Amino acid sequence: MLRTHSCGELRIDQAGEKVTLSGWVQRTRDKGGLMWVDLRDRYGITQLTFEEGVTDPNILETARKLGREFVIQAEGEVVERFSKNDKIPTGHIEIKVEKLIILNASETPPFVIEDDTDGGEDLRMKYRYLDLRRNEVRSKLELRSKLAIAVRNFLANEEFIEVETPVLIKSTPEGARDFVVPSRMNPGEFYALPQSPQTFKQLLMVSGFDRYFQIVKCFRDEDLRADRQPEFTQIDCEMSFVERDDVLDTFEGLTKHLFKTIKGVELSGFPRMDYADAMRLYGSDKPDTRFGMKFVELNDVAQNKGFNVFDQAELVVGICAKGCAEYTRKQLDALTDFVKRPQIGAKGLVYVKCNADGTYKSSVDKFYSQEDLAAWAQKAGAEAGDLMLVLSGPTHKTRSQMNELRLHMGTTLGLRDNNVFKPLWVVDFPLLEWDEETERFHAMHHPFTSALVEDLEKLDTNPGDVRANAYDLVINGVEIGGGSIRIHDQETQSLMFKHLGFTEEEAKAQFGFLLSAFQYGAPPHGGIAFGFDRLCAMFGGSETIRDYIAFPKNTSGRDVMIDSPAPIHDEQFKELGIKPA
Ligand code: ASP
Repeated sequence: MLRTHSCGELRIDQAGEKVTLSGWVQRTRDKGGLMWVDLRDRYGITQLTFEEGVTDPNILETARKLGREFVIQAEGEVVERFSKNDKIPTGHIEIKVEKLIILNASETPPFVIEDDTDGGEDLRMKYRYLDLRRNEVRSKLELRSKLAIAVRNFLANEEFIEVETPVLIKSTPEGARDFVVPSRMNPGEFYALPQSPQTFKQLLMVSGFDRYFQIVKCFRDEDLRADRQPEFTQIDCEMSFVERDDVLDTFEGLTKHLFKTIKGVELSGFPRMDYADAMRLYGSDKPDTRFGMKFVELNDVAQNKGFNVFDQAELVVGICAKGCAEYTRKQLDALTDFVKRPQIGAKGLVYVKCNADGTYKSSVDKFYSQEDLAAWAQKAGAEAGDLMLVLSGPTHKTRSQMNELRLHMGTTLGLRDNNVFKPLWVVDFPLLEWDEETERFHAMHHPFTSALVEDLEKLDTNPGDVRANAYDLVINGVEIGGGSIRIHDQETQSLMFKHLGFTEEEAKAQFGFLLSAFQYGAPPHGGIAFGFDRLCAMFGGSETIRDYIAFPKNTSGRDVMIDSPAPIHDEQFKELGIKPA
């Protein structure tokens, strides 16, 4: 070994010992007679000292050549420091250097490798290997590693078998575009990268594996957002002979285990909420339940009083912001501007202040009497001192606008504490979703999801109303995972493909292997996948999953460090039997 100790482990008890350290030069300070070097590795920083008249002049000369990020090996004696630094664990000692070797020189890095760096995002991504030297960035990946190990431990204990499924496959529809890979040996044909190992894990159940898991890369060619990456990682699981509650219980167990072992947080209840209620009360299928401010539908008290906007609306819906009656004109205007932003798209915002003296002041006083407004307040549970905010319009659109406003108010009022964790199972999602563009039903989850038995008869008459045996785990308004109880017989699966607009031939061509597997004794089964990157970000108290990925892509799907994607040579095109664009 090129060292006897790491740069983070020496303490005052080791004074007098001869040690050898290796690491990177974080910083040098030369005061003429005395010189200090901060030597850094993954474990910490240790101070090296050189003194004119004491240190060998050759060593001193070498030390004076050191620049930031040089890799060195230093041998010397551990001594007590004269001026101690209580901010770092090694701050009471330093090494009086007796031997110094430059293992490798370094160019001056493009940004400083410190917690508080001067490097902008683009530069840090281009030199990600240097960014990863920073404590803050490395600690995020350490957290990721700990989580992965804890997941494996828990699931292995529950008899799950880790199986690797292939990456060069054929399209698995999870609702995104596929990344495809041309096949040289089969000219004109392409593999698809898995959007998830869905069909393979189901086949493993047919094989009798009973319980499968994999921490696995998935690929989806979608337009990117802050919380999306074209390749991302799932904790993917499947279980046989289970019903919904068995899956939920198992993964509630996993979630509790992770929070307890990694964060020291004991999670208590995992309430369950129907998709329909989530939409009605929060306007979202992933409600943040750290705070209330539930939606109140006001149609019956707000309509038919001469206010045209409300009278014509399918939905009039309000929320009550506690203690906000004193909001100023400026604050109310800012809220109106917020909901009118193009991303949200509301036409306007109605407010009702519940004054301390029991009167009401609203933006629609022209149309509503004090009694009318009192009726709204009563419905919304608004008391003196509270502020009601009301939106109206088509049901779905208005709910999602109100969802944005509710979250905004929650943030503004400090109700979304990062140290509070509120898990929630959202269950009974719709099975199918109407797609305006293609004028067809799409599977909301994926085509292998089973319907609730009691809704099956509606599949022909009212497909949009059929509920799926599907569930999502939501924590603090973030979708952490989702899954379903699957279809496990060939007949139902074929019927589902038919409802999704596949001809028999198309279904056979794409999923013949699964349909045929279902003819050989497929057990009832179900499963779930957790978004691992998102889970890591949540544990780290951040919303940016990119920070928890060692080598992430930017929002254009590029890896700016290796400069990919990149053109290929004409030769390669020829070999692959495809033509350049
Ligand atoms: N394959 C699904 C997904 O990626 C998860 C599941 O149904 O288990 O969302």
